[in-house]
Amino acid sequence: MIRPILIHPDPRLKKACDPVAQVDDTVRALMADLLQTMYDAPGIGLAAPQVGVLRRVFVIDCAKGEDEAPDPVCLANPEITWSAQETREREEGCLSIPDIYAMITRPDAVRVRFLNREGTEEERMFDGMQAVCVQHEIDHLSGKLFIDYLSPMRRQLITGKMKKLKRERARTRASAAE
Ligand SMILES: [Zn+2]
Repeated sequence: MIRPILIHPDPRLKKACDPVAQVDDTVRALMADLLQTMYDAPGIGLAAPQVGVLRRVFVIDCAKGEDEAPDPVCLANPEITWSAQETREREEGCLSIPDIYAMITRPDAVRVRFLNREGTEEERMFDGMQAVCVQHEIDHLSGKLFIDYLSPMRRQLITGKMKKLKRERARTRASAAE
């Protein structure tokens, strides 16, 4: 099921999420919905709070376009157990902040311990685009957005744009319902 993606600013995007007790059918259904919603958007990562579910769950798929096989990874209760000393600056965007991109500096690689779709504990290294994506999504689980790394002035400007976008979307929905 495709779920509506929350757009910043929204109080649910600023909350710290709770861990799941276990990966049961409800969590697996949430993971499936997150993947479907992410592919539909389209995006390369989506966290549960972005669809209003305040749980420590997210999905990523950083395979590039149609020439690479899909590479979905579902993660619950992720913990970063190691971060590379080397950092890299890359352009980031977010499905909750449409059409806004900014250069963000993060560790170049991370090791993450998590529960996978089967509920088994796994520890994996992520580098390149996956490292960026995983760190961006883990931030979502503590209510942090990529624009929080920018200057307050730039963040305010982006938040203003998003408020305007939400007003426009609400108007379009209202007139479509008439
Ligand atoms: Zn995001």
